[in-house]
Amino acid sequence: MTTPHVPAPHELAELRRRYRVERERRVRPDGAAQYRDADGEFGYYAADPYTEAPNERTPLRDTVDVAVIGGGFGGILAGAHARQQGVERVRIVEKGGDFGGTWYWNRYPGVHCDIESHVYLPMLDETGYIPEWKYAPGDEIRRHAVRIADMSGLYAHALFSTGVTALTWDETSETWSVATDRGDLFRATYVVNATGTLTDPKLPGIPGIEDFTGHTFHTSRWDYAYTGGTPEGGMAGLADKRVGVVGTGATGIQVIPMLAEDAAHLYVFQRTPSTVDRRDNRRTTAEDVGADREGWARERRENYLRIVSGEDAEEDLVADQWTASAGLLEKLLPSFRRGGDLKTFEAAYEMADAAKMNELRARVEKTVTDPETAEKLKPWYRYACKRPTFSDLYYPAFNRDNVTLVDTADTHGIERVTGHGVTVGGTTYELDCLIFATGFNVGASGVLSGKLPVHGRGGVQLLDRWARQGPRTLHGFTSNGFPNLIQMGSLQNASSVNFTHILDEQAAHAAALIAAAEARDALIEPSHEAEDAWIAVLAKDAPDHEWFHAECTPGYYNREGRGRPNGPTAYPHGAVAFHRLLRRWRDESIGEVLQARTAPRP
Ligand code: NDP
Repeated sequence: MTTPHVPAPHELAELRRRYRVERERRVRPDGAAQYRDADGEFGYYAADPYTEAPNERTPLRDTVDVAVIGGGFGGILAGAHARQQGVERVRIVEKGGDFGGTWYWNRYPGVHCDIESHVYLPMLDETGYIPEWKYAPGDEIRRHAVRIADMSGLYAHALFSTGVTALTWDETSETWSVATDRGDLFRATYVVNATGTLTDPKLPGIPGIEDFTGHTFHTSRWDYAYTGGTPEGGMAGLADKRVGVVGTGATGIQVIPMLAEDAAHLYVFQRTPSTVDRRDNRRTTAEDVGADREGWARERRENYLRIVSGEDAEEDLVADQWTASAGLLEKLLPSFRRGGDLKTFEAAYEMADAAKMNELRARVEKTVTDPETAEKLKPWYRYACKRPTFSDLYYPAFNRDNVTLVDTADTHGIERVTGHGVTVGGTTYELDCLIFATGFNVGASGVLSGKLPVHGRGGVQLLDRWARQGPRTLHGFTSNGFPNLIQMGSLQNASSVNFTHILDEQAAHAAALIAAAEARDALIEPSHEAEDAWIAVLAKDAPDHEWFHAECTPGYYNREGRGRPNGPTAYPHGAVAFHRLLRRWRDESIGEVLQARTAPRP
């Protein structure tokens, strides 16, 4: 291993200047408004290519114990934990044709999870399943989601190809009335919202996008009928095609090497290069991961969470690029929080960051043979300004004769789409197929999108209640005026790169709330005072990351360069501390949110 070069002060000053210039090149006055939703005339980009349009069915008018919105890992885990607590009728309502969520939709060639499969896949201890690769392909992950749903009996009441359109609290029966886009109107004692944060595909609002007459689709709705092949490649349909791909985020990095293999010619339209670190995927055995011990998966997951959250751990069981570098900031934070001085902390952080980024830029230079292309592929911002990515195939793809990198930073992205191609810097690239790897509307699903009206006590809309003071919750899960409604997600809760671990803890918490309410024949509803107290906890140490994101290149992490939203959004002391807090609260204080029912339990 080479020793990382420690940057000198003048190098740090130059980096700071360069980062500012690169940020300014990319910040757009229209911010997030530059994107358009994949609906209306662009609804084609969001249609489900994997399941045939469903037949008419008789709308449901029944009653269930728990309605879960969303059938991704969040919803499945909420259902599985509720079933473990003895809840009978759990109905998951899911827009896709089956369980899987993001892994149902994202089936593009090369799709893998870049978090180690042994910590990413939930319920390995419970299912007895042991992944065979360090980083699992998408299809294996989707099948595992189905496995958990099946094992937990969640198919029995599930509704697929169905979207929830409204939730209304009925004061008389003290149940939620759940309306769907297929005419259902059923009742649920509890509702768990598990709609995810990165679900609805988004498109860039490039002028002329509607004029393109070639074939076009979004990576999360891969059109294998057109390309041929499978997620493993072999796209014979592209052998004589000029293909353009827009976007070089975590998706682009995985799909581009596959397209490079199979397309006659591939044009990669890049606006901001990602950091692309080593992947080192390899087969693993049960022995490698200690899977002969009971509880091995939980132990490994907890160890991983500790390390990426910057907590002390005796050993690093996963030992990958995330544990080596994703906690760059987090690793320095604990000593700062223990009373360290801000200047020392920032200087130490900048030094560690510059060494890491220099190493990543050197990686490009070492792999890409054309110096001009290599220069364009170098990321000029701090590590984790954008979602870090990992690939051993991405940079070599640019050494192929059939791959052209088109940098669009100077024009703030692609200028125009024409009937037959894409224009950048006055040059038009003729294309047969244009693929958008342009990501998802952040936080645009579920109750926060405004597209799913939630009427609580007195007919008050949840977003109206939050309009003046911002979101108000206890632990991110529950809100006053909205009894028995439990939110999953990172709002006023915790987050981590291994989000399925977070979801599993949230699902266990949701199930514990439901079990406690069932045991005492009560409603779950925090008081205003409990919400205020939680907001105060969040606000106390909130500003840690603000200075960091304010200086980053634009992207969905910082609202396209505008910084983080106002108000506390997540628990500031990390996921491990948050889980500890929740466990203690469940043991000692859960009764605080239980209110007497006035109507009999249905
Ligand atoms: P992203 O939002 O991360 O990336 C979108 C890409 O499109 C960016 O490169 C963006 O450039 C580019 N883009 C947008 N508009 C234009 C334009 N007008 N012209 C040119 N380029 C444009 O989406 P992804 O689908 O890549 O990833 C979304 C998230 O999904 C990830 O951050 C990650 O959380 C998750 N994911 C996880 C994976 C895993 O393995 N665990 C795999 C894949 C995704 P710019 O950066 O300049 O805005």
